[in-house]
Amino acid sequence: MTNIREQVRRRANLTCEFCGVTEADTGGRLTIDHFRPRTQGGGDGLENLLYCCVRCNQYKQDYWPMGFDDPSLWNPRLEPASRHFLELDDGTLHSLTPTGAFTSKRLRLNRPPLVAYRLSKRRRAEEIRLLTRYRDLVCLLDRLHRQMAELVEEQQELLEEQQLLLRLLLDE
Ligand SMILES: [Zn+2]
Repeated sequence: MTNIREQVRRRANLTCEFCGVTEADTGGRLTIDHFRPRTQGGGDGLENLLYCCVRCNQYKQDYWPMGFDDPSLWNPRLEPASRHFLELDDGTLHSLTPTGAFTSKRLRLNRPPLVAYRLSKRRRAEEIRLLTRYRDLVCLLDRLHRQMAELVEEQQELLEEQQLLLRLLLDE
């Protein structure tokens, strides 16, 4: 199991596959979740295991649809989040499907600390975008300055040449 745990962890890039928080964000290892709970016949194979933060795991518990009318949970290993959720500018998740709505409710994907987390991630991404833009501008300015310096030098040479010609003309 140890090796499988490590494989699941790395496959998920050390990130909760439901809500997106990372080990670095939480300051520790996350948990391994059986998407289909063992109590409901779920296996220990890689295809049934997910890397999952403590909160999501707690809220999910051993949910599994029993009847035809029971809603399904979103399986992050089978479908991208974008199929079921849309992240809004205010950091909340808007559900696009019944599966998304049920998962969001069950796992409390709009819990305030998670919304705050998404917002801070957005802010960080925006900061990085602005910093990159700023760096590009500085590079551009630097290039312009160098071109300008070359032009000034050329102009200086031309002036000197002109002066030389003038002197030759006047001497004649
Ligand atoms: Zn989570």
